[in-house]
Amino acid sequence: MGMGLGKTKGILCPILLGIGAVFGFATMKVGYAAPHALSVVAAENTWGDLAAQIAEPDMHVSSILVSPAVDPHLYAPTPDDARRVADATLVVANGAGYDTWMDHLVQASALPQAHYVRADAWAGWHEGDNAHLWYDLNAVADFAQRFEKACEQADPAHAKAYAERARKLQADIASVQAQALALRPHVQGMAVAATEPLFTPLARYLGLDMKENDFQIAIMNDVEPPPIAVAAFEQDLAQRKLKLLAYNVQVEEPASKRLIDLAHKADIPILPLAEIMPQGTHWQIWISSTLTQIGHLLGVAQ
Ligand SMILES: [Zn+2]
Repeated sequence: MGMGLGKTKGILCPILLGIGAVFGFATMKVGYAAPHALSVVAAENTWGDLAAQIAEPDMHVSSILVSPAVDPHLYAPTPDDARRVADATLVVANGAGYDTWMDHLVQASALPQAHYVRADAWAGWHEGDNAHLWYDLNAVADFAQRFEKACEQADPAHAKAYAERARKLQADIASVQAQALALRPHVQGMAVAATEPLFTPLARYLGLDMKENDFQIAIMNDVEPPPIAVAAFEQDLAQRKLKLLAYNVQVEEPASKRLIDLAHKADIPILPLAEIMPQGTHWQIWISSTLTQIGHLLGVAQ
């Protein structure tokens, strides 16, 4: 993991790279205790997965939030997180006010600003926009491009390998975008809703008509949704004005649960979404299967 090597990584780096060249880095995966000269720490596993597809095996990538049991909006970092960030070569995060705790850890470390890659540095994101950027296909493509540049800058010796792996990832991102664009003409304009604004970036990409926004913002901000918004949401479900209800599997919230029950009763398809990517997959597989699921739920043959 490279913990505790922060102060000396400049000296250890060539030695470890030499060892890596002899034994091959394929054996130095997650769970293996060998120290890594260069490491990347991600706030969430979603960005960590994208980073790993470019950085590994030349840099070791680990993520702080990997369990769906944790709500990233409410996470408080531990001293161990601070140590990992202090020892990191590069740090990645969502940004957009989603994981400000990482900003604080980075500020407290000696990490150069150029070594901190946040998804919200994408030109398409503006203050107050939706924070769930891993559901924004353009934001992800932009992140991958900027992260690859940061890898090259931090470790020029492996520039070619980073560029090669980034090209492969960009091709996968492009095929997810193509899948969404193929689905779009079949679903655009359909009225959909969500229990919180997790679904908004993907829904926008598909041209879906997102309803019940006041309710969603209240849930995201952990405040009581306005009664008028609750009543409107319940009525729209009961009257089957919505074609789909997306919900956040990571939030157990009575107001949202009631809506899911109502959707069940009204026979409205329900789409589970998450803040934290399931383990053992990759971003492109996860999002592609979500798109397939959306198509099925909206009655599009694919
Ligand atoms: Zn959220």
